[in-house]
Amino acid sequence: MLVGLGPGSVEHMSARARAAIAEADTVIGYVTYIRLVADLVQGKEVIKKSMTEELDRAIEALARARLGRKVALISSGDAGVYGMAGPTFEVLFQAGWTPPSGQPDDIEVEIVPGASALNSCAALVGAPLTHDFCAISLSDLLTPWPVIARRLDAAASADFVVALYNPKSGRRARQIVEAQRLFLAHRSPDTPVALVKSAYRPRQRVEFSTLARMCEADIGMLTTVLIGNSNTYLRDGLMVTPRGYANKYEVGSGDTRDGEQAGRSLTSGLEGWLAALRASGENVEALARRYGLPPQYIAAALARE
Ligand code: SAH
Repeated sequence: MLVGLGPGSVEHMSARARAAIAEADTVIGYVTYIRLVADLVQGKEVIKKSMTEELDRAIEALARARLGRKVALISSGDAGVYGMAGPTFEVLFQAGWTPPSGQPDDIEVEIVPGASALNSCAALVGAPLTHDFCAISLSDLLTPWPVIARRLDAAASADFVVALYNPKSGRRARQIVEAQRLFLAHRSPDTPVALVKSAYRPRQRVEFSTLARMCEADIGMLTTVLIGNSNTYLRDGLMVTPRGYANKYEVGSGDTRDGEQAGRSLTSGLEGWLAALRASGENVEALARRYGLPPQYIAAALARE
C-alpha cells in the first residue's frame, strides 16, 4: 500500500490512510512521517529510512511483500506526486512484477491518495488554484536543468498558476533565482506569490510576496511557492485567482453580460472564436501573432467547417 498522509497533521489524513497503516504488518517511511502515525504502528515492524533512500524503501517493501507481509509505504502529501509511487512501480517492473491475475504469489498494489502540498498550501492562502495551474519541481537531483527551465518558461508564457515544489535546500539555492528570472520574462514583477512553509505542521508559516521580491522570503525544503497568473490578486491577506465569472457575468449583480448566455460557451469560446477568425479577413501570420498561437493551428482552424 502506497499511502499518502496529506500535509502532516493527523486531522488532514484520510480515513483510508489510517486504516491502511492499521492493517499493515510492516510500515516503511521517513522518520518524520512514522512519528506522525506513532499511535498506529505499535507492535508492527517499522523500517525508518532517510530522505535519499527512495529506491531502497521500494526494494525493501517488495522483499517484505514477497514474504507474504502487508506493507504500508508512507509518503507525505500524495504518494503519486513527487513521491514513492513512481519508484515503487519502477522497482516492481524491474523485478518482473505484473498486476494480480489470480495466482497464489500475486502481489497487490493499492495507492491511497492524500492531499498534496499544493492542495494544503492553497487552502491556507485563499483560492490561488481556481484556474489552470501546474506543478514544477525545482529539484535537479534527478532532472536536468534545461528540462526544468523549459517547463518553467512554458508555464510562465502560457499564464499558468504554478506551484513550485522543492524550491530550495541548503545545497540548492540558485534554482529559485533562475525560476524567478524565467518568470519575469513573461509576467509582471507585481504578480502575487505565496510562500507556504510546513503547512499543517507545528512550524507552519505563510508569507505573501511578489514575483520581484519572492527570493527575499524565507524558503526551505518544506516550502511550496505558489506563483499567481496575470489575473491573480491579493486582498485582505487572501490570494485569489478568478475563475472567469467576470468574463460572463457582472460580478456585483449576477446579470449576464451583453451577448453572453448562462450555460453556454463564451462568445470568445471555441465556436465564437472560429467565427471571429473567419470574419476577420486577416492573414494567418497576423492572427497567429495576435493570439500567440502556431500559424499551422490558425491555418487549420480557418480551413475547418
Ligand atoms: N508527495 C509530496 C511532495 C514531496 S516533494 C506531496 O504530494 O505533497 C517535497 C516538497 O513538497 C517540498 O520541498 C515542498 O515543496 C512540498 N511540501 C511537502 N509537504 C509540505 C508542507 N507540509 N508544506 C509546504 N510544502 C510541502
